Amino acid sequence: MKIAILALQGAFAEHEEVLRALGAETFLIRNRADWDIEKDALVIPGGESTAMTRIMRDLELWEPISEALNQGLPVFGTCAGLIMLDDAHLSTMNITAQRNAYGRQLGSFYTEDEFCGIGKVPMTFIRAPYIERVGEGVEVLATVDGKVVAARQQHQLVCAFHPELTPEDTRIHRYFLDMIQGK
Ligand code: GLN
Repeated sequence: MKIAILALQGAFAEHEEVLRALGAETFLIRNRADWDIEKDALVIPGGESTAMTRIMRDLELWEPISEALNQGLPVFGTCAGLIMLDDAHLSTMNITAQRNAYGRQLGSFYTEDEFCGIGKVPMTFIRAPYIERVGEGVEVLATVDGKVVAARQQHQLVCAFHPELTPEDTRIHRYFLDMIQGK
């Protein structure tokens, strides 16, 4: 299985390590030419969604990525990656993200909570969003204090937190790999 990781800015190297530890092949997308390499799925990492949007547009990656996701390419978005898939950005998922939703005080925190079908997982939040609107076709996978922090819509998986920053627990990345294989 070959997984493309969007590496324009943000925490892409950590995803690479976890996915490789699970036996997946990975490569980084740094420009438009990289996008043409054959792949089974895409990871959009955490970072800064405004910067990521601008760079994706400048590099002419916006349209091809949007098209591929709409055609069913599996994708995993974490934090800013979640924001990129919402209805104000690539709009491939029927969700609305609230950016920097935890305010300044609680900007970054760690907790452990239930993830549907997996159990309690570590959750590292860094100036994280949550999902304020879950539309039709979207399955909620995790909530923290009543806020939706993970969801899936068919081949698209998003987490408001950073599973790649707790690499000793690989279960969510494993879930993504299973999802790619249609399990
Ligand atoms: N606050 C960032 C944004 O709005 C997301 C933070 C992250 O990805 N860790 O894009």
